[in-house]
Formats: sequence, structure tokens, C-alpha cells
Amino acid sequence: MRPGRTIPLTPTATLIQGVVWQCNCVVIRKDGHALAGDAIWSHHDMAVLTGMIVDHDTHLLITHGDIDHCSCIGAHPYAKAVGSAATAARIASGSAAKNLRAEAAAWGLQFEGEPRIDMIVAADTRLTLGKWQVRTLEAAGHAGDGMAYLIEEESLFLVGDYLMASQHPMVWWSLHEARRTTERLLETIERYRVERIVPGHGPWLSRTEAVAVGQQDIVYLREVERIADDAQRKGYARREWELAVMAVPVPRPCAPDIEMLCPRLLNAQATLRDRALL
Ligand SMILES: [Zn+2]
Repeated sequence: MRPGRTIPLTPTATLIQGVVWQCNCVVIRKDGHALAGDAIWSHHDMAVLTGMIVDHDTHLLITHGDIDHCSCIGAHPYAKAVGSAATAARIASGSAAKNLRAEAAAWGLQFEGEPRIDMIVAADTRLTLGKWQVRTLEAAGHAGDGMAYLIEEESLFLVGDYLMASQHPMVWWSLHEARRTTERLLETIERYRVERIVPGHGPWLSRTEAVAVGQQDIVYLREVERIADDAQRKGYARREWELAVMAVPVPRPCAPDIEMLCPRLLNAQATLRDRALL
């Protein structure tokens, strides 16, 4: 697997961006402390991350328990993994580790150690982590668990799998909650005048770029909800419903390594799940 690249963001913040799924892992370092999070899907990129944090007092900011976002934990037993109660529960159930092992094997990868959460954090709080003040924001929707982290001193927002300029929204859990999270993220970006938005995948964004992507995503997600309401009213069978939602124009295309996960079908299934039909 080809190595990713490292992109300097500020004098203290570096982005490790992978090739597969354009996974983003930010590393912020100051005076022997580090914050890092969270998506990694390559042995090379993991080694780069380890080299940057191994001699630092590190907090790993975990946005959610999906395979590519909990893969960075096991290799760093000295770091404190930070996440929501829902992410901790998902990891404690064993499902996150099982999915991680299975998909890693499909890519010929093997990630060291097991995922864990050492520090459970609530949404809408302001924490001191190492040298930084970090605000948390509820970010479920894409997955059943989700937390976004705003690192105040860096004006840098780790948002998880939302606001991705490299793909359209992809929802494994709740379309409705994904839309609400996207709205909350944009409110937070405006309120705190955030300068750097780092999604789980794709390019990091300026405030203007993130707002533009988010607004397009909200238009798409609202239209998907409208079509799903219509399908329900008309009593569509499951496949008719899925086709109707899949026909909604997406705000931007996905690369083949995302398209292989059938994101539009996932979004259709999320609307069925929202209405307790799946
Ligand atoms: Zn992801």
C-alpha cells in the first residue's frame, strides 16, 4: 500500500493523510505533549504517527468507533484514548475490534493491539487535554456514536466523517441525525470562527470551504429525507424505496475506494432505519 503524505498545518500541527480513503490523522505537539486523531489505514502512516508521538504525553482524540478511526489506538498503549460513552460502549462490546480485524485482513493489513477508550468525555464540554483547551460536540449520525473536537489554541476542528470535500455524505446509522450533526458543526464553525476544519477523509478545509461543503450536504440530506417521507407515504417496498433515495443527485462524487462501500445505498438504508423499517 502506498504511503500517505504529511502536510504542515500550523507550526505545531501536522496532518498525516493516507492514500486509501484519504484518511486524515492530525498531530499537534507542544512542550512534550501531543494530541492526535484519528483516521489511519496504512502501516506506513501508522509508523509516521508513532514516530511523532512516541516520546510525547499523548491524548488520542477518537471521533467514532469505525474501523479506520479506532485503528490508531492499539499500537499506542502509553497514550490516553479519548472518546464518547457511545464509542466506549461500541469498543467494549468487541464489535469495533471484530470489524477492524476483518476489514484489515481484506486489505492485507494487521493493526497492533486492541482498540480501547481510556477517557470518556461528554458532549458540549470544555476540557484541558495536555497543553490545550478542547471543546466537544455531539456528532452521531454517520455512525451511532460520534464526537467532534475543537482545539481552541489551534482553531482546528476534528469533525469525524462529515464535511468531506472528497465525497458526498455516507451514513451508516441515521440520516436524520447526520443532517442535524452537519447543522451543529456549521453553527460551531461560525460561532468560534474556526480556521481549520479536518474531516475524517479528504482535504482539510478553511471556514468558507467547510461551510460551502456543509450547506451542499444539508441540501442533499434534506432532499433524501423528503424522498424517504414520500416513499413511506406511498407504501413503497424496500427496493423501490432504496432506488428512489439512490436517485437523489449527490453534491459531489466519491472515489472508487469509497464507492465500493455503496454509500448511496447506505444512505437509503439509513432512512429506513430512521423510520424503524430496517
Ligand atoms: Zn472514516
